[in-house]
Amino acid sequence: MSLEDRAEELASDLGADKAEVRSALENLVSYSVPLDEAVQSVRRKYGDDGGGPADPTEADIADVTPDGGNVTVTGTVLSSGKRSIYIDGDLRVIREGELADSTGKIIFTDWADAELSPGDTVTLGNAGVREFMGRTQLNINESTTVAFREETPEIPYEVGGATELRDLRAGDGAITVEVRVIEAETREVSAREGEQKEILSGVVSDGSTRLPFTDWEPDDHAAMAEDASVRIENAHVKEFRGVPQVTLGEYTTVEPLDREIAPGDEAPRMSVGEAVSSGGVFDVELVGSVLDVREGSGLIQRCPECGRIVQKGQCRSHGAVDGVDDLRTKAILDDGTGTATVVLDDELTSEVYGGTLEDALEDARDAMDQEVVAERIRERIVGEEFRVRGDLSVDDYGANVDATEFERVDDDPSERARDLLAEVGG
Ligand SMILES: [Zn+2]
Repeated sequence: MSLEDRAEELASDLGADKAEVRSALENLVSYSVPLDEAVQSVRRKYGDDGGGPADPTEADIADVTPDGGNVTVTGTVLSSGKRSIYIDGDLRVIREGELADSTGKIIFTDWADAELSPGDTVTLGNAGVREFMGRTQLNINESTTVAFREETPEIPYEVGGATELRDLRAGDGAITVEVRVIEAETREVSAREGEQKEILSGVVSDGSTRLPFTDWEPDDHAAMAEDASVRIENAHVKEFRGVPQVTLGEYTTVEPLDREIAPGDEAPRMSVGEAVSSGGVFDVELVGSVLDVREGSGLIQRCPECGRIVQKGQCRSHGAVDGVDDLRTKAILDDGTGTATVVLDDELTSEVYGGTLEDALEDARDAMDQEVVAERIRERIVGEEFRVRGDLSVDDYGANVDATEFERVDDDPSERARDLLAEVGG
């Protein structure tokens, strides 16, 4: 097709003057612009971008953000699996997983049945981007084009591998983990439409850390038994009070492993600041100084109905009640990087108090003031260094640790040095 013919066609497309369009094309071609490109350029000049919306920019995965609008990315599928979810009351099956290029990886949800499998390299044109559980998520929908590529670029990630529990984050889908079931307990929950449903929940460990799990289809997962070492495929990660939770559903498979995973009992040691900024940690070890003992510590009374603290004979839910005596401590722990309130139950409080509930009641009667109990706890622990183990959660009022262990750190430097030498000496 000659320049003359192109000019005529283009002018009629654009509804513009033919001589003007021809002159614009001639001008560009005289500067060695190929005719096709010259035509595109003139189209743009007349405000016609070719009919459809502009193609989103091709982006590196590391640069994709929810603020940037739709994107076109090329990446390799690391994982992909089905999950059923409720959208406005309707059950839908989606596919989710992770996509990576040389710059990074990103979680995706496929609403359009693109049938991506681990190992596929694809260019996703005009993919949606949104924030999901605080993360950037790619959305493949009806207006996304999916082009499978022949060549697989180098990526610094493993396709289809198992993930360590400590690397899991809320929002992860189609994950594989190899774990030991530490605790497993069946319980009933109310499911949709008021039905009762039996689920299995507990704790799994893989040596990197321990995490809670919930299995919504325990009948399909016979291998999920206490002390078993198993490979779980196609699970996803939810969040409960800031703590990641391994969640098994109808598309999850569980197979026994032919090796045994040690029942790791070590909680990861973190600084208070690190634990708090992560939003919540299941079973963590912290070391810090007790700055103060908060109100509501020592000898307390709980509602016999709901267990809430009774103040001046009143429960927040049940009004005037006969409170049941109990011991509790809320200690403020600080290690220079952050602060958390450590909550000690009756047993741990009894240890720091140095007496039983009966002793506390007797001390309170003698002093005619139950505050003497909290006062004595304060004297014994404020200013001292403690090693704490428990679950840390964060809410609007700050961080709380539900302590399972609370031990004084021996502050004798010579003893610490001896311990260290003994360790080095093996
Ligand atoms: Zn109550």
